[in-house]
Amino acid sequence: MQPYVTLPSKQYLSEPGATAAGSLFIGGRWSAAAEGGTRDVLNPYDASVLTVVSEGTRADADAAVAAARRAFDEGSWRGTPAAERGEVLGRIADLLQRDREEIALMESLDTGKTLEEGRIDVDDVTGVFRYYAGLADKDAGRIVSTPEGIFSRVVYEPVGVCAMITPWNYPLLQLAWKVAPAVAAGNTMVIKPSEITPVTTCKLVELALEAGVPADGVVNLVLGTGAEVGAAMVEHPDVDLVSFTGGLATGKRIMASAAETVKKVALELGGKNPNIIFPDVDLDTAVDYALNAAFFHSGQVCSAGARLIVHEDVHDAFTAELARRAEAIVIGSGLKDDEGVRCGPLVSAEHRAKVEAAVARGVEEGAKIIAGGKRPDDPELANGYFYRPTVFTGCSRGMDIVQTEVFGPVVTVETFRTEDEAIALGNDTDYGLSGAVWTNDTGRGERVAAALRHGTVWINDYGPYFAGAEWGGFKRSGVGRELGQAGLDEYREAKHIYRNLAPEPQRWFGEV
Ligand code: NAD
Repeated sequence: MQPYVTLPSKQYLSEPGATAAGSLFIGGRWSAAAEGGTRDVLNPYDASVLTVVSEGTRADADAAVAAARRAFDEGSWRGTPAAERGEVLGRIADLLQRDREEIALMESLDTGKTLEEGRIDVDDVTGVFRYYAGLADKDAGRIVSTPEGIFSRVVYEPVGVCAMITPWNYPLLQLAWKVAPAVAAGNTMVIKPSEITPVTTCKLVELALEAGVPADGVVNLVLGTGAEVGAAMVEHPDVDLVSFTGGLATGKRIMASAAETVKKVALELGGKNPNIIFPDVDLDTAVDYALNAAFFHSGQVCSAGARLIVHEDVHDAFTAELARRAEAIVIGSGLKDDEGVRCGPLVSAEHRAKVEAAVARGVEEGAKIIAGGKRPDDPELANGYFYRPTVFTGCSRGMDIVQTEVFGPVVTVETFRTEDEAIALGNDTDYGLSGAVWTNDTGRGERVAAALRHGTVWINDYGPYFAGAEWGGFKRSGVGRELGQAGLDEYREAKHIYRNLAPEPQRWFGEV
C-alpha cells in the first residue's frame, strides 16, 4: 500500500522498508538495539508505515540504567547549580518553539490527533519547561527552628536514577511533566515511551541534548514494549524512582513490582470523569463544553468527561442537542483540520477493538445509542482506525459502560434530581482524576467542587490545566502529583542535616 505520508529520516527515524534505526540513546550516543530489533511505527490514519525505529530489549534497559547510575553517582550533573539547570530548561522551551511545526506534525501523524492539537501540545509543553525553569533554583531547603546551640536545616537533593514510562495519547506532554522537574532537581533518567508512539520522545531527547543536558548518561532513551523494557526498568535495583503514566492494570503491576526493591513510585492512571450539569446553566454553552470534554482527541484523554450526569429537567433537551452535534463532528485525517476535521482516528486497531467491545457491552446492558456507535461510512477512512463519536443514554451507575474507562469517543448520560444525588453519582467511581460541575449558583458550584473526590474539579469549564497547579488522582487514579511544586518534590529527597554547635558530654550512662 502506498503510505499516506512518511516522516523524513533522522538519526533516530528510518525510512519505511529500512532495517536499522539508531533510536536508542544510551550513555551519550544514539545506537541500534543490542539484539537488532526494529519496529514499524504505523500511521493510524491508514495503517501505513510512518517510520521505522529500533526496538530494545532487557539488555538495552540494563545498559541505560547502568549509564544513568554512573552519571548520577560519578558525574557532575547533580552538583550543577540549580540556576544552570533552570537555564537548560529555558533553552529546551525555546527549541520547542523553534521546531513547533515539525513536532506538531510528528505528534499528529504518530497519534492521529489533529495538527492543531499537536501545536497546542507543543505550546503546553513549552509552558511546562518554562515553569520548571523558573522554579529550579527557588527553593533549596530551609532552616529548622531548634533549641539554642543547634543548627538544623533541610536540603533538597535529587532522588537519583528515574525511570519514566509514558502512554500513547500525549507522548510529548506526559513526558514533559516528568523530564522538566527531573532536570530541575538534578536527576538522571531512563525514558521509555509507548512502543506505538515513540517519535516525539526521540525528538525531545534530541532537543534536551541541544539545550545542554549533558549527554553522558544524564538522559537515556530505550524504545521497546512494556512487558520487556518497561518491566526491566521497574525491576532494576539501581533505579530509585519509577514515574509512570498509563492504565490502571499496568499501574497496579508496576506498583507491585517496584515494591520488591522499595522504589519510589509516582502513578498517573486513568479516570472516569463526571461532568455534572445543573438545569440553571446556558445549555448551548454546557453542550458545547460537554462535546469537547467527551470527544477532544477522540476521547483518548485521561481526564475526558466521559460520564455526563445531567439534571432530569434538562436531560431530553441536552441529550438531543448533544447527539445532533456529535453526529455533525467531522472525522478524518488530522492533517485536514483546516478543512474542518476535528477528530482523527483512534491510535491502533487493538485500541479500537477495545472501544468497540465496550460499546457492545453497553448495548447488552441496556444503554441506548443516540449518536455514533459505529465506524464511519466514508470509504476513504476504511483503512484507518476511525470510530464515530458515540452517545449513550439510559445509563445507570452499576453499568460497566458507566464504570470502566473506555478511553475512546464514548460518553454516557445519567440523570439526577438533587444536589446530593449528583455528588453521590460523581463520586461513584473507583477513579478520582477529574470532574466538572456546571451551575450558575456560586454556592452550589463550590459545595459540589468541595464534595467531589477528584484531583481536579472545574466549575463551569472543562479540561484546562496550569503548569503551576498540581495534577493527579485521588483513589485509583494514581499516587503522587505532577506539575506544580508537588511535581518537583516527586523528584527530590528531603535531607535533614543537624549540627551541634557546642557538643559537651551528656553522661546519659552516668560516669562510666
Ligand atoms: P498502558 O498502561 O498500556 O501503557 C503505558 C506505558 O506502560 C507504555 O509505555 C507501555 O509500554 C508501558 N507498560 C505496559 N506494561 C508494562 C509493564 N508490565 N511494566 C512497565 N511498563 C509497562 O497505557 P496506554 O494504553 O499507553 O495509555 C492509556 C492509559 O493511560 C489510560 O488508562 C489513561 O487514562 C492513562 N493516562 C493517564 C494520564 C494521567 O495524567 N492520569 C494521562 C494520560 C494517560
